[in-house]
Amino acid sequence: MTLARDGGTPVRDTAFPTYADASGRTFGPEEVAALADVIARGTLWRVGGVEVAALEAEFATYLGLPHAVASTSGTAALHLAVAAVDPEPGDEVIVPPITDFGTVIAVLAAGAVPVFADVDPVTGCLTPETVDAAITDRTRAVIVVHLFGGPAPVDRIVRSCRPRGIKVIEDCAQAYLTVPDGDGSLAGTRGDIGCFSLQQSKHITAGDGGLSVTTDPHLAERMRLFADKGWPRDTGQRTHLFLGLNYRMTELVGAVARVQLTRLKGVVDARRRIARRLVEELADLPGLRVPGLDIIDRHSFWLFPILIDPDRLGTGNAEFGAALVTEGLPVTAGYLDRPVHLVPALTERRTFGTSGFPLTSPPARREMRYARGDCPVAERMIDSTLLVLACNERFTDTDVADLVTGIRKVHAAVGR
Ligand SMILES: *Cc1c(COP(=O)(O)O)cnc(C)c1O
Repeated sequence: MTLARDGGTPVRDTAFPTYADASGRTFGPEEVAALADVIARGTLWRVGGVEVAALEAEFATYLGLPHAVASTSGTAALHLAVAAVDPEPGDEVIVPPITDFGTVIAVLAAGAVPVFADVDPVTGCLTPETVDAAITDRTRAVIVVHLFGGPAPVDRIVRSCRPRGIKVIEDCAQAYLTVPDGDGSLAGTRGDIGCFSLQQSKHITAGDGGLSVTTDPHLAERMRLFADKGWPRDTGQRTHLFLGLNYRMTELVGAVARVQLTRLKGVVDARRRIARRLVEELADLPGLRVPGLDIIDRHSFWLFPILIDPDRLGTGNAEFGAALVTEGLPVTAGYLDRPVHLVPALTERRTFGTSGFPLTSPPARREMRYARGDCPVAERMIDSTLLVLACNERFTDTDVADLVTGIRKVHAAVGR
């Protein structure tokens, strides 16, 4: 079969369901009714409202933890977490180079320094070894990202960090209902704080929104205050205990998110069924590596990652991915244009004016310079080996069949 790239007929000439609109989102009349109730009550902010408080209680219960704090985005949820750890300016937070930049923003916005540790070449997640190698006497926290919904080895990272007083924050923006190695409990409950996003592209959404969870009442209280200007409203005093922001979730967002939470299990189950079919139909292709069948029920498939072996296939992810896109498939080579340690905000230290704060020394332990070569495994994944397929609970059998057909077609044509 001639590739569409070379003038052949594309496997697919209609759009796949996408998170960007109703075609790939799971909404119903319940969300509309919940919004109408909020408007009818007339309290649209959370102060004196019921929806956001209920969402916090319901989400905490869902995860089996005592505390959840709502905010305006996943980035805000992470900022709450880092701010609750309360680093001194220039203290260090270890982060992975393959993630949304929100992970890094939270560190910089707290006046702390992101230190990149390299990743596992298969999962793209931090490993206990790479984290250990990045720890210094200024390390205050690690942000572990469960990339694409795949479980990072968070328990082992916690075991090496906790005795040293280093907090572990789990970035679960892509990982609702992910189950890391260990006791079977969910991602977000293993470290000191778990952070989730309700942004448009995530498993469940209210447009934008964030949730931070913890068992620690002190961290919970600091996060609550930080999201509301440091204002201890429960005391009746109009005062500000420390610098905080206004990251308050609105009742409108809270109402939609509560309904979305009731749909979460269905969404993740559907994605796991789709992923299982993809694995079954693609696992035999030499030079391609898909997630193992054994991991499917512990992964939540925000995206479906495929690794290609450029030596075996004679081509890299860019060419392979472009051929798939031309066949009409929802694929992105590399996931990111570049690993996040190489974005201009860091390489050019565009933070606060031209100061370079907090990446200068002082306050940092050393002058921070971010450059290619810092994280060779992550750089190679993005530049050469990683492909991500959209994975959406609304994909039909035909959609899945077209994905398989397109990938097998391109593999046959380019693979040697
Ligand atoms: C989406 C995402 C974020 C940021 O969430 P927003 O709600 O977009 O601010 C942070 N980390 C990861 C891993 C994400 O996927």
